[in-house]
Amino acid sequence: MIENHLFSAIRAAIPAMDKPLARLIDGTVETYGDALALSARLANLLVARGVKPGDRVAVQVEKSWPALALYLATIRAGAVYLPLNTAYTLNEVEYFLSDAEPAVFVCRPEIEQDARALATRLGVGAVETLGTDGKGSLTDAAAFPDTFEDAARGPEDLGGILYTSGTTGRAKGAMLTHANLLSNAQTLKDYWRFTADDVLLHALPIFHTHGLFVASNIILLAGASMEFRSKFDPKEAIALMSAGKVTTLMGVPTFYTRLLDQPGLTREATKGMRLFISGSAPLLAETHRAFEERTGHAILERYGMTETGMNTSNPYDGARIAGTVGYPLPGISARVTDPETGAVLPNGEIGMIEVQGPNVFKGYWRMPEKTASEFRDGFFITGDLGKIDEKGYVHIVGRGKDLVITGGFNVYPKEVEGEIDAIPGVIESAVIGVPHPDFGEGVTAVIVAQKDATLTEESVHRALENRLAKFKQPKRVFFVSELPRNTMGKVQKNILRDTYKDIYRNVA
Ligand code: AMP
Repeated sequence: MIENHLFSAIRAAIPAMDKPLARLIDGTVETYGDALALSARLANLLVARGVKPGDRVAVQVEKSWPALALYLATIRAGAVYLPLNTAYTLNEVEYFLSDAEPAVFVCRPEIEQDARALATRLGVGAVETLGTDGKGSLTDAAAFPDTFEDAARGPEDLGGILYTSGTTGRAKGAMLTHANLLSNAQTLKDYWRFTADDVLLHALPIFHTHGLFVASNIILLAGASMEFRSKFDPKEAIALMSAGKVTTLMGVPTFYTRLLDQPGLTREATKGMRLFISGSAPLLAETHRAFEERTGHAILERYGMTETGMNTSNPYDGARIAGTVGYPLPGISARVTDPETGAVLPNGEIGMIEVQGPNVFKGYWRMPEKTASEFRDGFFITGDLGKIDEKGYVHIVGRGKDLVITGGFNVYPKEVEGEIDAIPGVIESAVIGVPHPDFGEGVTAVIVAQKDATLTEESVHRALENRLAKFKQPKRVFFVSELPRNTMGKVQKNILRDTYKDIYRNVA
């Protein structure tokens, strides 16, 4: 039998063809058998359009059941799935297509004309369309057979390329192998105890590692089911939980703050839930505590990134500690190094987090030098600053590039944000470094306050006076109604840095 490293494992895990894999918003149930049939038809279509093993299939469509089947079809055809955020403009898409040179570009019907012009210019072989309603040229797949002989793919062959830029810099294509995807999903399925009895509320986008690889691959490998939604609706989430229709939720931190805004979030409503998982951005310790108080559930926070899949997780059985991302997952090593010298630091000291394991990607697409510079003796340099405490829990203090260097001192934004968030009346805050003529960078705080709070810049300065060393105290404090966030809930500090870039210009 021909082995397709990832898909053979998915196929082997199918509990029964009539077992539900996904229930959609309109109540339609798609079974494992349906997933096999639709992905076979789509794989046949891709091959008919000229897709060969190793080719890239670029996809910029809204989340839908056929879109998920298209991911499986791409893997089955031995090709490389390349999902793109629907928020990208055509101009941005042009860069991805010219860099990745896909054989096929699947886009939303609305942009078909522009996409065709672009594809012709860039030599992309075929353009297909898929709309939210399932309509578009991909419906031609219905004419193809519902069986497909999966292409042979080994562990080191690519299964996906996900473009990532962090918050700045040119996007780079992270190359993920079949082994990266399979090993991480298997490890997480076991670590988080997913079984065929689970029903996941899947409300994350599927152009990102969290919703695509973590959520979908775990469910497939567990032979479990999901309520599959294109958006997260906290009211609907509570209704599903109360009705016992879901057992687990994977979310970004904003899912949890939005749930907490709902009076319906109670112990009773969540008593059938087995597990709440959070990641992709830091979960405020405050949110963790408030959620546990309201529901009795300790959210399990984990940490990962596009290049590595998941690296660390709070334990299933042991203490899930607020403000930490838990232990390195089985088979994965994490260490903290001095950002300047690269020397490995003892536990408790803050430095650069580096990881090694079967989850770590193969490199950046067509960027061998960039790839080489991001590895140190086999460890991937994540770009995240943090520490490992005496119990072995990893703490993230922020992205390296968000570190503020003021008057030669390092200021870790998270420490300052923690103090600001503790001031009564503050909902949340973001601390950034902004060019300053004397200090290099000036520590600057941007705060979201409660509506009825009477906070002022002066009152914040006063509250921090005895809490933080002088050099860590913000030189300026600004109030906003909300922080800019991307779809994964990450605060976009680059936007804040840009907004406030001139505030110290005339300070001398
Ligand atoms: P992405 O490649 O879009 O998944 O972003 C990865 C980055 O998100 C990581 O390098 C971290 O900076 C951040 N991140 C992911 N999970 C967490 C977490 N639980 N706590 C803090 N930061 C996180």
